[in-house]
Parts: sequence; C-alpha cells; structure tokens
Amino acid sequence: MDVLSFRPLILMALYLAVVLMLALEGAAYTRNWSLMRLHEEGTDRLLGNISLLRSALDQYRYLPFVLTQSREVRGLLRSPGAESSEPVNRYLEQINLVSGSSALMVFDLDGLLRSSSNWRDQRMLLGGSQAEMEYFRQAIAGNEGRQFVHEGVPPRQALYMSAPIYDEQRLIGVAAMRVELDKLREQLPIDYPFIINDIDGERLFSVMMPDRLPEAKSESLSDGAKIQLLTLNGIVYLAQSVVLDDLDWRVSVLSDARIVQQQQRIAAGAIGGGGFALALLFLYLRESRQKKALQLDQARERALSQERQRDMISTAQVGLINVDRSGLIQFINPMAMQQFGVSLELMRNRTVEELLSGGSSELLRETLSNLGTDRFQPLTGAEMVGRRADGTLFPMMVSVRGMTDHPELGYLVTVIDISRRKRLEQALREANESLEHKVIERTRALEEAQAELVQAGKLAALGRMSASVVHELNQPLTALRTYLAICRRQLDNPEQQRENLRQLESLIDRMALITGQLKTFAYRKPEQVGPVPVAQSIDQVLAMFRGRFSEMQLQLDYTPPASGLHLSGDQARFEQVLINLIKNACDAMQPRPGPNRLILHVASDEQNVYLSVADNGPGIAEEHRAQLFEPFFTTKEVGSGLGLGLAIVQSIVRDLGGDILATNRAEGGACFELRLKRFDSSSAGEQQPTGNGQEVI
Ligand code: ADP
Repeated sequence: MDVLSFRPLILMALYLAVVLMLALEGAAYTRNWSLMRLHEEGTDRLLGNISLLRSALDQYRYLPFVLTQSREVRGLLRSPGAESSEPVNRYLEQINLVSGSSALMVFDLDGLLRSSSNWRDQRMLLGGSQAEMEYFRQAIAGNEGRQFVHEGVPPRQALYMSAPIYDEQRLIGVAAMRVELDKLREQLPIDYPFIINDIDGERLFSVMMPDRLPEAKSESLSDGAKIQLLTLNGIVYLAQSVVLDDLDWRVSVLSDARIVQQQQRIAAGAIGGGGFALALLFLYLRESRQKKALQLDQARERALSQERQRDMISTAQVGLINVDRSGLIQFINPMAMQQFGVSLELMRNRTVEELLSGGSSELLRETLSNLGTDRFQPLTGAEMVGRRADGTLFPMMVSVRGMTDHPELGYLVTVIDISRRKRLEQALREANESLEHKVIERTRALEEAQAELVQAGKLAALGRMSASVVHELNQPLTALRTYLAICRRQLDNPEQQRENLRQLESLIDRMALITGQLKTFAYRKPEQVGPVPVAQSIDQVLAMFRGRFSEMQLQLDYTPPASGLHLSGDQARFEQVLINLIKNACDAMQPRPGPNRLILHVASDEQNVYLSVADNGPGIAEEHRAQLFEPFFTTKEVGSGLGLGLAIVQSIVRDLGGDILATNRAEGGACFELRLKRFDSSSAGEQQPTGNGQEVI
C-alpha cells in the first residue's frame, strides 16, 4: 500500500486533531470568559451585599447616639437613684420596639447598667460592669463603639454599638444598643454562601457556609484579575472577599462556578460537534460531488458506448435485425438492407418470416413463433435460404438471441450471407471428387507398377535362389560324379568301395540339408501351438553351439529367465529361430580377431516375451537393412549361405503372432529384437495352429 492510499486517513486524523485543539482552546477561552463574568457578577453581588449590610447597620447605628441626646438619660446619669430610672427604662423600651433592636442600654462611667429597654425581664439584663468590654471602652474613649459578642445560651452572636454620653462636655456615661446578628441577617436577602469575619479571622456571621473552608487555589484570568477557586461538597466556587476598613470586617461571598464548567462543556461540545458536523457536511458534499461526477462519467460512457454500438451495427459486415417481443421488425442495419434489398421504412413492423423463402427451416419458424414467450430458445448458426425483395434466393446463416442486457429491446437476428462459402464448398467438393478420381487412377497405376516390381523381385530372387541352389548343389553333385567314377574304377576293392559309399552318403546328406532348408522355408507346418519353455529351449540351442563358441573363444552374456516362463508357439520352430540368429551372429563375428561377445537377453510382461540376440560384430550396413529379411538376400560368399535364415526367422515369428526388428547397437554390433506372445494357460484351449500350409515365395 502506498502513501497516497493513506492520504484521506491522514487528512481526517489531522482534521480531527485540529477540531480537538479548537475544542480545547474554545473550552479554555469559554472558561476564562465565564470566570470573568462570574467574577464580575460576584464583585457586584459582594458590593451589593456590603451596601445592604451597611444600610442594615446604619439602621441601628444612630440608636446609641439618639440615647445620648435624651435629657431623661442624661438626667438619670447625673442624679443616680432608683426612682428616676423607670421613665428612662420605658423610654428605651419604646425606642427599642420602634427600631427593632434587641436591647438599648445606658451605663454609668463604671460600666454599670443604669437603664435598659428590657427592664421588665430581669433575665435579659446585663449583670456586672461592662467596663472591660471593647464597645464600652471605645465609647469611654469618646468614639463610636462596636463589638460582636458571643453570648447567651445557646451562644449567639450579637452586635453591640455604643456612644459616649456627654453632659455639657463632661462624659457621664455610655449609651449602647444590642442587636442579634440573626436579625441583621434577616435583612440581607442572601441565598448563596456568604461570610463575615473580623480582622482576626473570627467568624462574625455566615450564610450557607461550613465551619471550615477548604484551601483555595489562585488563578489569573486573561484580564489580569486574580481569582480564588475552592471546592466545597464537590462543587467548585469562586471565592471573593473585601475588607471593610471602617468596620474591620472581611466580607466574603462564594459564587457557584458550575455554570463555568457547563459553559466550558457546551463550548467544547459545540466546537467539537460543529467540527464533526462540518466534517460530515464536507464528506457528504464530497460524496455527492463524486457521485454526480460518476453519474456524469457513466452517462458519458453510456452515450459513447451507444454511439460505438450504433457505429458497429451500421458498419457491421453481418446483417442485424432487431425485432420486438412480439416479433415485429424495429430496426435493420445497412448490411441486412443490402442483403435483402429492402429499406427500414419498408420492413418496420413486419415479420422476419417475410424475408425467408417458402421452404425455410421449420426450426427458425418455430424459434420466431416462440418470441416473447418462455418457450423461446436461442438459435445459433442455422443455415437456411433468404429471399430478396426481387424474389431471388440466397443461402444464409441465421442466429436469433434475446438482448440479455436489455430484454425490453427484444431480440437480435443475425444474418450472414453464405453464398460465397457455398460456392467455395461446391468448388471444393468438385475438386475433391476429381482428386479422388485421380488418386484411384494413380493407385491403380502404382499397384500395377508394384505388381511388376514384385514380379521382377520374384524373378531376381528366383535368379539368386537358382544361383545359390545351383552352386550349393553343384559342388556335391560334382563330388558325387567324381566318387561314382572312382567307384566304377575300384569295383574290385570292396573296402575302398565302402569308403566311397560313405562319402557319397555324406554328400547326399549335405544335399538333403540344402533342400531341407528350402523346404522349411517353402512349406509351413501346421504345428499345434502350445507352451514353449523359454529357458529350456535356449539351453538346448546353446548346447548345440558350445563347440563353435569355444572355437571362437566367445564370451556369452546370458541370464536365464525363470523356468516357468513359457511362450506360445512350438519348440522346434522357436529353436530354429534361435539357431538362425545365433549362427548369423557367430558368422558376423567370426573373421574378427578381437574378443567376441554374444548377448542374449530375455524379458517379459503379462502379454509378451521379449528376446534380444546381440553381438559385437560389424553390425548391419545401412544399405542392407531394407533387404535383410528378404529370401535369398545374403552378403555371404556364394556357398556360405542361402540367404534364407532371416526370412525363415521372420516367417516363424509372424506365424507365432510376434515381430522382429533389426538394429545396430550404439557400441557396435547388430541386435535382433523379438517379441513373441507369452503363453496364456487360460486361453490355451482356444489356440489354433497358425500355419496355413504352403506359402508361395
Ligand atoms: P545368410 O546367413 O544365408 O546370409 P540370412 O538371411 O540369415 O542369410 O542373413 C542375411 C544377411 O543378413 C546376411 O548375409 C548378413 O549380411 C546379414 N546378417 C544377418 N545377421 C547378421 C549379424 N548378426 N550381423 C551382421 N549382419 C548380419
């Protein structure tokens, strides 16, 4: 796979990485922006709370001062006595009721309570001196006093505010107001974590705040603002605080920062989703563009192919006829028009039958009548006769097949004018006939010539035979004549006569041998064919040659076959074959000085026995090969051979249903290879004598 095939994948991965980066970047930007907004909102809320707090405090702040201005109060402090405190108590009680504070008190300079708005309930009165209290001391020092005090059971936070009471510029006591922080808090509409600590970190009051706040993490926003984030109960808050110098308070609010995370997620999701949607849109557009391009290509290709088809049909060298499913002609190409001498206008909506001669094939008529039905079978290369518009006929080859790709277009009939082919076929037939005639004549002439040759060959053979026989017989005849003359002269010498008669006898034997050989060849004995033991027959023949072998110092290469191997024939004739072949081999090797070798080899298969007799003599000359098996062919000197040995061998082998082949060995010498039928005991009974009596040479 090359790099190009990975390109879309790489691009997609890059795009996704960019979208991811943008989503992360967008999320970070949104977080920063949201935090900025939250920070602003928190700041607004903090300031709003502070102003609410201040205005709530301001409600009470004037109360001690109001008391300092009361004549009754001053009068009380000026002349201490139990009877004068009651009107002041009532006065304080009224103001306390109107102002909503929890207690208004007046102390003397020793910090002892002189009058209280809660005078009716002794339990609510402060016992002992307040001289050590911070708010008291501040007032004694001539300032407005303020102090948060943890008091009561259960302990509650209360704010004490105080002011010095002067009588003609002489400090005579302290006016104080007490309000529970719970009351103060009621006036603040706060529904988020809020806390006020004093400057030492002591909690003064809080809303929705745990006792201990976790450690906050500092962060800088892009506008340079430093913010604190902390996690409370799994929720992240933005913590903001302001120190109120005049009150020495630290006011803090926590803003729920979940909205930041939400917006961050929305931004990341929107960018990621947008990117994904954009990718999908891009893929969709790309896909539809490619599809459109493909459709355009296909349409172009189709148009081109139709154009090409029209071209092919118009220029086709075969006639093409398009018929619809009901068998009516819809289109004829120019070649078909030319073939039938018709025009498309003439033939449109007519049937193909009108273009056929009356005697046209039933097959085509049947095919045409089945058009448009399930019985329709395509017709290929049917030969029939077409009819031109002028009534003339012409041979044609017709095929009919359905338009498989567009069945709605019906069928296509292809017509090839085969007039020329038919003419050629006719010419060829005539040429064949004349050739056949010539061949018969030539064969007859050859047969005659051959018969003459055979006759000549026979005459030549007869000549050769006569010469041999004459020569072979002449010698003993001359000797006979000589011995007879001697006999006549020695009639009185019976001993000598006996010797002469023995000589005569041996001469007659020799003559009988010669004529016997001729007889073997000339007559075939109707021998009974039977099993011939191969090894035994070879042994007998070899025994006959033992003397000659030792005379020639011949080396015999022979491995006897299995004793059970039998061939089909008769033993005498098989031995005759062996004798002739071995004798010839010895004759061929005899004049040679070197070591003589005779190789006998026997093999067999289920059907045959193969025997070869080879020697290391001079081999068979090429020019003699053709005549080797002819009777009376010999290369031996006159008197040394009649030329009948191999002819007899071949004749016997053929009689026994085998064959013989003469070859030359590559290492020198001749080799005669024989194939003879193996004896088949199962069909032994059916075997008949193969000879049929006399054979004329
Ligand atoms: P003849 O032995 O009387 O000549 P054959 O028919 O037996 O007649 O042989 C014909 C000729 O075949 C022989 O004269 C010889 O030229 C040739 N021939 C036969 N056997 C051999 C052989 N083993 N080697 C060479 N030539 C052979």
